[in-house]
Amino acid sequence: MFDNSVKAYSEACNVIPGGVDSPVRAFKSVGGTPPFIARGEGAFMYDIDDNKYLDFVQSWGPLIFGHCDKDIEEAVIQTVKKGLSFGAPTELETSLANEIVDMFDNIDKVRFVSSGTEAVMSAIRLARGVTGKDDILKFEGCYHGHSDSLLVQAGSGMATFGAPSSPGVPADLTKHTLLCEYNNIENLKKCFEDSNDIACIIIEPIAGNMGLVPASEEFLKACRELCDANGALLIFDEVMTGFRASLKGASGILQTQADIITFGKVIGAGMPVGAFASSKEIMGHLSPDGAVYQAGTLSGNPVAMSAGLVSLRKLKANPSIYEDLNAKALRLVNGLKSAANANNIPLQINTRGSMFGFFFCEEEPTNIKEVAKCDFQRFGKFHHEMLKRGFYFACSQYEAGFISTVMTDENIDDCIKAASDIMKNL
Ligand SMILES: *Cc1c(COP(=O)(O)O)cnc(C)c1O
Repeated sequence: MFDNSVKAYSEACNVIPGGVDSPVRAFKSVGGTPPFIARGEGAFMYDIDDNKYLDFVQSWGPLIFGHCDKDIEEAVIQTVKKGLSFGAPTELETSLANEIVDMFDNIDKVRFVSSGTEAVMSAIRLARGVTGKDDILKFEGCYHGHSDSLLVQAGSGMATFGAPSSPGVPADLTKHTLLCEYNNIENLKKCFEDSNDIACIIIEPIAGNMGLVPASEEFLKACRELCDANGALLIFDEVMTGFRASLKGASGILQTQADIITFGKVIGAGMPVGAFASSKEIMGHLSPDGAVYQAGTLSGNPVAMSAGLVSLRKLKANPSIYEDLNAKALRLVNGLKSAANANNIPLQINTRGSMFGFFFCEEEPTNIKEVAKCDFQRFGKFHHEMLKRGFYFACSQYEAGFISTVMTDENIDDCIKAASDIMKNL
């Protein structure tokens, strides 16, 4: 029943490393080979063997309106007809910037790029340029894209300068990256004692790249205070949580606010877009106004801008969407929890707006080391069985899941029913 996909995967492997253009797609952590997708429609995707899946991945976050939303589709088609790219300013960029800037008190200006990786990389350069400092502080288990200085290994829990987590990244490039345990205030303080050259803290305020693990308010407050006391900037990486955790992302539901926010995923609605945003003082350091250089041939691409613009306007016109999405997320995880309880399977659940997470473990994880204690084998089996029944979950326990506006309660109940069945033999 996966025959065509298995064949397509082996053909892809001949010409593309691992058969994929982004490693997680290869299903390495759950085993098996990935379905090749033919098309999407609303809450569902179809693979090239014509299997139908309820999609909880949504291109890893961007598709909050599901597949083939008519309004977004129409805007993209109309824009495409006028030309794909000009390398010159268009009004679409200003319109999308206005939609974002209007939403946040702490943001005056935004610059668009083409991916989340690029957004974070540029935000860090900006923070270093503004503060004149070199070190950056990140947390174990937070993912900020694959740029050199952010690919550092999990340390021992002690304040430590990061070692590269990939060959090809010189240690010289990561020696300025300090690594800290998520949700560990003591560890954070120690980092600031170890270095007086910290330009910024970069954090996923609601982590979605080690499963769904929110930072505590106290921890974020400590981040804020330590930045202020030491002349460092606080960057919220909201590439995943932006317009997902709430209309204003994590920033909208947390007390602590950042100096710089990065965006991606939902602001492009499935097109390649990233952005970073801050006050006019900080953004004033950016080229051509200031000296911090940053550029992109396809940045602010009109087709991508038009998709993002329609998407954000739809969300803003209907902010109760997030209550509805969260109700569905809760329906799902509570259903999974009951099924797990009925079978004496330990399961931890969580939601934030349209995001959800679940872990096969005894206690709710608060950092990556605790996530690592979860039962990955059980997750792999669960994933595989759900896939066979037509439910497409992220292929790793280190990933969050997403609800789209086109998902119905019936869709979710079908999913819970399948999960209940599977958990009898998990
Ligand atoms: C996805 C993600 C990125 C990287 O974005 P890409 O578009 O894949 O480069 C960065 N930060 C966070 C929090 C993400 O979830």
